Amino acid sequence: MDSRYWQEELETMPRPQLEALQMEKLKTAVARSMNSKFYKEFFGSKGLSEKSIDGLDDIQKFPFTTKDDLRDNWPFGLMATSVDECVRMHCTSGTTGNPAAVLYNRHDLDSWANLMARSMWSSGARPNDVFQNMSGYGLFTGGLGFQYGAEKLGMLTIPAAAGNSKRQIYLMQSFGTTAAHSVPSYLGRLYAVFQEMGLDPRKDTKLKRLFIGAEPHSEETRQRIQEMFGAKAYNSFGMTEMNGPGVAFECECQAGMHIWEDCYLIEIIDPDTLQRVPDGEWGEMVLTTLDRQAMPVIRYRTHDLTRIIPGDCACGRTHKRFDRIKGRTDDMFIVKGCNIFPIQIERVLMNFPEIGTDYLIELTNEQGDDMTVKAELKPELFTDNYPELESLKRKIASILRDTILVTPKIQLVPHGTLPKSEGKAKRVLDLRKQ
Ligand code: AMP
Ligand code: ZN
Repeated sequence: MDSRYWQEELETMPRPQLEALQMEKLKTAVARSMNSKFYKEFFGSKGLSEKSIDGLDDIQKFPFTTKDDLRDNWPFGLMATSVDECVRMHCTSGTTGNPAAVLYNRHDLDSWANLMARSMWSSGARPNDVFQNMSGYGLFTGGLGFQYGAEKLGMLTIPAAAGNSKRQIYLMQSFGTTAAHSVPSYLGRLYAVFQEMGLDPRKDTKLKRLFIGAEPHSEETRQRIQEMFGAKAYNSFGMTEMNGPGVAFECECQAGMHIWEDCYLIEIIDPDTLQRVPDGEWGEMVLTTLDRQAMPVIRYRTHDLTRIIPGDCACGRTHKRFDRIKGRTDDMFIVKGCNIFPIQIERVLMNFPEIGTDYLIELTNEQGDDMTVKAELKPELFTDNYPELESLKRKIASILRDTILVTPKIQLVPHGTLPKSEGKAKRVLDLRKQ
């Protein structure tokens, strides 16, 4: 099989047929969900059931499910089948209170692995690729999610897990890794280790494609990653509550992420009015699982901000695409009355070739609202008397002022000195709240 598609019929299904399939699956998902303690009461008390659905738009009659609903019903409240039938669980990191747990039966795991295989295939991965998964394993879904999908696709799969850059490079070189998955924030650090070792990933590895996701990142960061590694980087979107990765993925066109609409129903709402916005307009993504048996989730508020990209994709897939996530509603912070998303700052920083890929935004209260942007200078540039340091700082501050309407303090620090995390990067340190 070397078609352009993993499941041609499903991926290129004409919209009327795809929507009819969604409608049928939506009714089943709602009916199933009402086997759970939570949805039986949540929908039942409002007189809602699958009988309330005559068209896809009728989903709007249903209330939203929130992360608090999942936490408050930890661990089994949303289960629509018996726990005995389940074979796996994952959960969110849950730094405050209960995490949100997801359980999967055999069907759910097969369906998830298939979506992952379909996703990676759409960006050009093939069975003769050697795939290295540099994602945390364990409760985080990026490990096992990619692992089973890559095996299903037929790639030799290296479960390298996160961190330990020298070993990552050793594995890459020994096994001839051609495709890899990582959070984008790790790749800058990995590249620095290549450099320290006197290696150039463009020449000294066989990398052709990178799958990057799990955290917001800008187009500028993607470009950087592509240049550093001489490989194409494809955006991968997922969240634990929706299985994990494999919800939406960029195809070879790199023109937004196709959401697999035979398995998810997507809506974009205005987070204030909670009403739907038309395709093309930005808002909060709301997702409904259409193929999950053990734990269907209906109208889940993701808090992720994106928009549907209008028009068709050149790849021939008919599943809608959504734009790069510009942030989460809860990522936004306010300084001197201006609403700011970290990614706006990232975009400016990544346009300065002197700056590395790690940065941190610190919010303090010393004189009213204060904001310091700390960024690492590339290792080859940082010397105590780098002559252009002051003028570089002024340039960055001035472009940031034009972009976010606030002039932050800029601190350029030596490479490798900002705090690092093995999983998702923490970009904002809000000391005002402490
Ligand atoms: P988790 O369930 O811990 O994997 O976190 C899911 C969240 O990670 C999503 O709701 C998004 O906020 C974020 N996320 C996942 N993939 C992406 C991506 N490709 N771009 C931006 N944010 C992402
Ligand atoms: Zn496409």
